[in-house]
Amino acid sequence: MSTLSLNIVTPNGSVYDRDDVELAVMQTTAGEIGVMFGHIPTVAALKTGYVKVNFDGGSEFIAVSEGFVEIRQHKLSIIVQTAEAAKDIDVDRAQTAKTKAEEHLNSEQNSGDLHRAERALERANNRLYVATLK
Ligand code: ATP
Repeated sequence: MSTLSLNIVTPNGSVYDRDDVELAVMQTTAGEIGVMFGHIPTVAALKTGYVKVNFDGGSEFIAVSEGFVEIRQHKLSIIVQTAEAAKDIDVDRAQTAKTKAEEHLNSEQNSGDLHRAERALERANNRLYVATLK
């Protein structure tokens, strides 16, 4: 079976790289897509969610926040603000971030930046969910 290479890049640099990907599933703003070798080249916006990577002998979930994917016939480039493999997610930290974002959203004197708190809550909920995926 022909495989794909997958690179996930954040502002901190490359955080994930492998060249034996059989199938990668991710959530674009237009819905979930699965990408295999030979996919039609395209670019899509990604929502905060996960990338499921299937390779010979296993699979892995990676939590990602908003960004883009560029699909080429044998290469997948994912450019996102943050990415963490499920096994590397610090659940206590995500829980703290969730509580903080909820407090901010529920506060009567919040400073007005609700959109930012909503996105922080979305990231925290996503990390808590992806940490449960195997
Ligand atoms: P926090 O308030 O805990 O920093 P956040 O959502 O504001 O949460 P981000 O700005 O999305 O954090 O991420 C900053 C950096 O910390 C990124 O490199 C990201 O991968 C990492 N990171 C954030 N939360 C976690 C977590 N729960 N587990 C592992 N890495 C995390």
